[in-house]
Amino acid sequence: MDNLEDDRVCTAEESMEAREKAQRDTPAPAAPTGRVVKKSKFFGVGFWIQLAGLALLFLFPLGTIAGIILIIGGQFGYSSLRCSNCQNPVDNRQIKVCPSCRAILQ
Ligand SMILES: [Zn+2]
Repeated sequence: MDNLEDDRVCTAEESMEAREKAQRDTPAPAAPTGRVVKKSKFFGVGFWIQLAGLALLFLFPLGTIAGIILIIGGQFGYSSLRCSNCQNPVDNRQIKVCPSCRAILQ
């Protein structure tokens, strides 16, 4: 009986040591990596702005000028920057870590 008791204690200590060693040897889980990607938003706001701009083009001369401005401006509404890992929108390309999924953005 005594032997059994000793074995149990010994095993418990060993497994604890092994666990500690494993924690030391195993590097922290790597953060996911991702990229800032440009996602197109078809039929988004930009599309309608450009459509309006196209219609204005025919109202020479002021409408033509306004139309050109709207079409150029609409380009910016076409796409948005997103994290490739979780598709969460990000503010700019300079951002290093995704605020949503903590992925390292390269
Ligand atoms: Zn993300």
